[in-house]
Amino acid sequence: MHIDEIYRQIGITHEVLAFCTQVEADLKERFEKIDQTAEYNQMKVIKAMQDNQVSDIHFAATTGYGYNDLGRDTLEKVYASLFHTEAALVRPNLISGTHALHVALSGNLRPGDELLSPVGKPYDTLEEVIGIRDSAGSLKEYGVSYRQVDLLPDGSFDYDKIREAIHETTKLVTIQRSKGYDTRPTFSVGQIGELIAFIRKIKPDTICMVDNCYGEFVERIEPTDVGADMVVGSLIKNPGGGLAPIGGYIAGRQSCIDNASYRLSAPGLGREVGASLGLNTSFYQGLFLAPTVTAGALKGAIFAAGIYEKLGFPVVPGSTEDRHDIIQAVTLGSAERVIAFCQGIQAAAPVDSFVTPEPWDMPGYDAPVIMAAGAFVQGSSIELSADAPIKPPYAVYFQGGLTWYHAKLGIMMSLQKLVDKNLTEL
Ligand SMILES: *Cc1c(COP(=O)(O)O)cnc(C)c1O
Repeated sequence: MHIDEIYRQIGITHEVLAFCTQVEADLKERFEKIDQTAEYNQMKVIKAMQDNQVSDIHFAATTGYGYNDLGRDTLEKVYASLFHTEAALVRPNLISGTHALHVALSGNLRPGDELLSPVGKPYDTLEEVIGIRDSAGSLKEYGVSYRQVDLLPDGSFDYDKIREAIHETTKLVTIQRSKGYDTRPTFSVGQIGELIAFIRKIKPDTICMVDNCYGEFVERIEPTDVGADMVVGSLIKNPGGGLAPIGGYIAGRQSCIDNASYRLSAPGLGREVGASLGLNTSFYQGLFLAPTVTAGALKGAIFAAGIYEKLGFPVVPGSTEDRHDIIQAVTLGSAERVIAFCQGIQAAAPVDSFVTPEPWDMPGYDAPVIMAAGAFVQGSSIELSADAPIKPPYAVYFQGGLTWYHAKLGIMMSLQKLVDKNLTEL
C-alpha cells in the first residue's frame, strides 16, 4: 500500500497531505540541524551513563525508607554529569515541575531573604508558590519577599532596572528559560549566561536558578554550562523522554541541592531517603531517549509554524526563527478554529483518539479552556498536546510528540479539521 493510502484511511485527504508535504520539504535543512543537535546530546547522555557505570543492578526497586538506593543515587550522578553540576536530585517524589521549583526555592530561601525574577512574571503555578497571588503556605507567608523586573517591550532584559532591584537581601534570582504560555520570547542559553554574568557582577553570592522546563536538549548546552547554580525541571516534559511516569529534577551546586533535599524529605534526612519504587528503569531509559524525543517535538513545532504561517496565521516563534524550547503558539483568530485545531490533535492520538475535546471552565482560569491530549502519561506535555483559552486573540499552544511522525500526523489532522469545516483554505 502507498503511504498516501494509509494517510487517507486515517483521515488525511490528498490535498492536505500534498500541502503539508511541500512545507516539510522546505524544512529539510532545519531538520538536519535538529538531528545534529540530537546526535550531540545523545552522545552527552551516553557518556554520562558510561562515566557513572550504569548497570542493571541500578534498575532494581527499593521500598520503605529507600536507604542505599543505588539506582537512585547513580541516576542523580548521571544527571549531575550531564548538567556539569556537583549534585542533583532526580525523584519520583518531586511530583511535578511546580513541586520541584517549590522545593528548590523554599529549600534555599530563609525569612528576610528576597527572591527576584528579572524576566517578568513567572509561570502561572509559581504565583501561588511565591505568594504573588495570596496562598496558604506561600514563600510570602514565610517572610520571603519578592521583586520582579519586567522585560523591555522588545523582550530583552531591562539591565538598568535589574541593577536597581538587586540589594542586600536579594538571595536568589529565578530565571524562566521558556516563555511557557506567555507571549515573550524564550531565552537562549547564551542570553541566560549573559544575564547571570551581569547579576554576578553586582552581587556575586546571588543564587541563580533557572526554570529549565521545556528547554532541555533543545540546545547543546544547558544553563548550568553558563553559570546557573541550579536548573529545575519536570520529568513528564523533555528529560523524561516520554517514559518517566512522574518526577522532577534539580541539578546544581552541592549546597543548593543539599538545602533542597532537606525541604524535600526532612532536615537531617535529606537525600539519603526516598524509595524509587521501581521507577528507575523508566527514568534511565527515558533520559536515554530524551534527545531524540525532544528533536521530534522540535520538528513538529517547526512544521506547525511552517504550515500555519503559510496559511497566513501569526505564529510564535516563526518557522525560520531559532528555537530554544518546544512550545509553538499559533493565533487562529476564532473560537471555531481553536476548537477544530485541538480536535484534530486529539483525533491523531494513539490513546483516546475517539473522544472529542470541548472547552470547559477550568478552576483558576478566566475563560473556558480546551485541551487536547491522548497521552500514555496523564498530563504529559512531551507527548503531543495542545491547549487554548477560548478568548481573543484565540491562540493555541501546542507542544510535544514522542516521535516526529506522530507530531506530523497531529498537525496534519489539525489542518484537516480546519479544512473540513471550511475554516481555512489551502
Ligand atoms: C510546565 C512548566 C512549569 C510547571 O511544571 P508542572 O509540571 O506543570 O508543574 C513551570 N515552568 C515552566 C516554564 C513550565 O513550562
